[in-house]
Amino acid sequence: MHRGAGFASALALVCGGAEAATFDVREIANGVFVHEGRMLALDAPGHDDIANLGFVVGARCVAVIDTGGSVKTGRALRDAIALHTKLPICYVINTHVHVDHVLGNVAFRSAKPKFVGAATLPAAIDASRAYFLEHYASDLDAPASGNDVIGPDTTVATTRTLDLGGRTLGLRAWPKAHTDSDLTVTIDDAGVLFTGDLLFVDRVPALDGSIIGWREAIDELVKSDAKLVVPGHGPVSKDIATAFAPERRYLTTLIDGVREEIAQGKPIDDATARVGQSESANWALFGTANAHNVSIAYRELEWE
Ligand SMILES: [Zn+2]
Repeated sequence: MHRGAGFASALALVCGGAEAATFDVREIANGVFVHEGRMLALDAPGHDDIANLGFVVGARCVAVIDTGGSVKTGRALRDAIALHTKLPICYVINTHVHVDHVLGNVAFRSAKPKFVGAATLPAAIDASRAYFLEHYASDLDAPASGNDVIGPDTTVATTRTLDLGGRTLGLRAWPKAHTDSDLTVTIDDAGVLFTGDLLFVDRVPALDGSIIGWREAIDELVKSDAKLVVPGHGPVSKDIATAFAPERRYLTTLIDGVREEIAQGKPIDDATARVGQSESANWALFGTANAHNVSIAYRELEWE
């Protein structure tokens, strides 16, 4: 699959033209719904709707998995849920700290759910709150307040199950990988795995944690027997090994390339200009994200 800048801008044209009248959600398995985010840059108009979101309906209540990058997106998701079920929302789960996954939480506050995340997520949200308010205030209701950036009140240190009545969700918190607050969700009775941003499909992966940890997480995740994989960004996949293969190849290219630069005594700026370029045609939104990834990988690997 070769999808470069042309692919990205074509998608932006297709998707950017019309503000969708309805918020598209698709039932991928019995009672498991997904909204696919748009393939747009984090600073583009529409940037508040770039992450995949989901919800799972049990016999007693509903769990939401990520809420989008604005109160507007969060409300659109809430309204879409109400079209499918009148059951209460008992859990709002965040797969990690990034703005495009958490800022919509505030739209669910009045439903009084438990907000759930990795044990590391409360501190990560606290550390991000000022940054979110500085850069994304317009994605919250005015006047934007730190109280509107909602972190979890219920956390997962390793694994935990949540009961929705008649079905359970399996939550697993991961060591530092995409970020330091990654959490995955499985719905075993439906064979579905929500990876959060531990999996990017088509969109270039964004490293904000540990590149070694991320590759180790992938090698663990591909052992899952899930039949449907919902990535943090990109289309839902039916084969878990196929879904993760391009991302694993990309991360390995970065690890090998950065180690080579370090071994040759090359400074970080040389590495960011060179490493990973062989992957540029394989990913949407590659340019600046790759350089950022290489710089983070360099700072990690120079201590090996
Ligand atoms: Zn992310």
